[in-house]
Amino acid sequence: MGARPKTDEEPHEDESHESNRRARMSQPTILVVEDEESFVDALQISLSREGFDVHVATDGAAAIELFEQVTPDIVLLDVMLPRISGIDVCRRIRSVSNVPIIMVTAKASEIDTVVGLEVGADDYVAKPYRIRELIARIRALLRRSSQDATGEIEVPIDSSIRVGEVALDPDEHRVTVDGTDVTLPLTEFEVLHLLLANAGRVMTRETLIDRVWGADYVGDTKTLDVHIKRLRSKVEPEPGAPQRIVTIRGLGYKYERPTADASI
Ligand code: CA
Repeated sequence: MGARPKTDEEPHEDESHESNRRARMSQPTILVVEDEESFVDALQISLSREGFDVHVATDGAAAIELFEQVTPDIVLLDVMLPRISGIDVCRRIRSVSNVPIIMVTAKASEIDTVVGLEVGADDYVAKPYRIRELIARIRALLRRSSQDATGEIEVPIDSSIRVGEVALDPDEHRVTVDGTDVTLPLTEFEVLHLLLANAGRVMTRETLIDRVWGADYVGDTKTLDVHIKRLRSKVEPEPGAPQRIVTIRGLGYKYERPTADASI
């Protein structure tokens, strides 16, 4: 009597949040962190034309500030930046968010830095890059992260997996190695999920890339190796001599099932 029944017109908090999120995905917000004016201009024009809400920071400190203000759907992050390097910006963002991050490198040697340090980027592009290719990669990453948020992603199996001392729970987005929690960004989590779900079987590079990045992925396959290397640094007792995620030369990777001998 006193309490008014809820009507459909009254948006439930979760629903309005959900529709905001959907609206955001139709015009995704991108944070572009780039100090070279010519790149900034080209990106701003192309990305706006593609329907992105573009925010630009031209140094690392501004990037961190702007990230907190606009909570972007994706971040495009140059490695060489004034004040705070792109690598440190990536680490800072990753410590508070799983937002997809694409690193932009200017020279091949920087790729090794991006790869070698566990900065947690999802993908990288090398300058000079083609804007069309970059946009395809941005879209692929956004598709994956929105699928992940809505739970529509196709997963190998929907319950937790344990192989030897490594356990993964897709519902909780949780990984433990030798009983200790390990933090993995989305891409590494998905690669590990596929490998564990198919433990003992060779996963070709093509299969892994198709399943994790999508069949329309146009980046080079070195990206996969980057993620494998980072995964090894987190799940292998000796990352330099991998026993869990092994390379099958010329084919791809295999997650090795522990043998009975291994426990002796
Ligand atoms: Ca730069």
